[in-house]
Amino acid sequence: MSNILSIAQLGASVIREKSQKVLQINSQKTQDFIDDLLLTCKEAKGMGIAAPQVSNSERIFIMSSEPNERYPYAPKMEPTTIINPEIISHSENMKKDWEGCLSLPGLRARVPRYHEVHVRYYDRDAKMVEQKFEGFLARIFQHEYDHLEGIVFIDRVESTKDIVMEKEFQRLISE
Ligand code: ZN
Repeated sequence: MSNILSIAQLGASVIREKSQKVLQINSQKTQDFIDDLLLTCKEAKGMGIAAPQVSNSERIFIMSSEPNERYPYAPKMEPTTIINPEIISHSENMKKDWEGCLSLPGLRARVPRYHEVHVRYYDRDAKMVEQKFEGFLARIFQHEYDHLEGIVFIDRVESTKDIVMEKEFQRLISE
């Protein structure tokens, strides 16, 4: 049975550490951890969650996108496990849009991200996948990838004026 894991908040040292490559994707330990991470992401209604956010400094994250009250405009994507990811290339242009993070609850910020990324990763069956993401999904990928490098979204803002509180964000997007 899967467990809901406790989410580390900004200030915990694990959030700022560079994560280690996963060596044995097929191990029971890693597979159980992935199940726990998937459940934790779902329960928290996250669009994604990275292993360091549950105090595991390994290069694993989940992308999972569907519209909910935290992200009413999100596209639908089945929960996907991303292991040992690389960004092979990206578009030149960046776009600024809203992000939030389970490790920084209550904050939202407009963050510049590449509109399109071409990526490579391993799935939970240890199969190598090459894929292109654009728009909101490219944004999730870059946000979660940053977690593996110890970077959080507010590190990427152009100005601290692009950071707002959740309550004001809800008002801004409903205008
Ligand atoms: Zn995050």
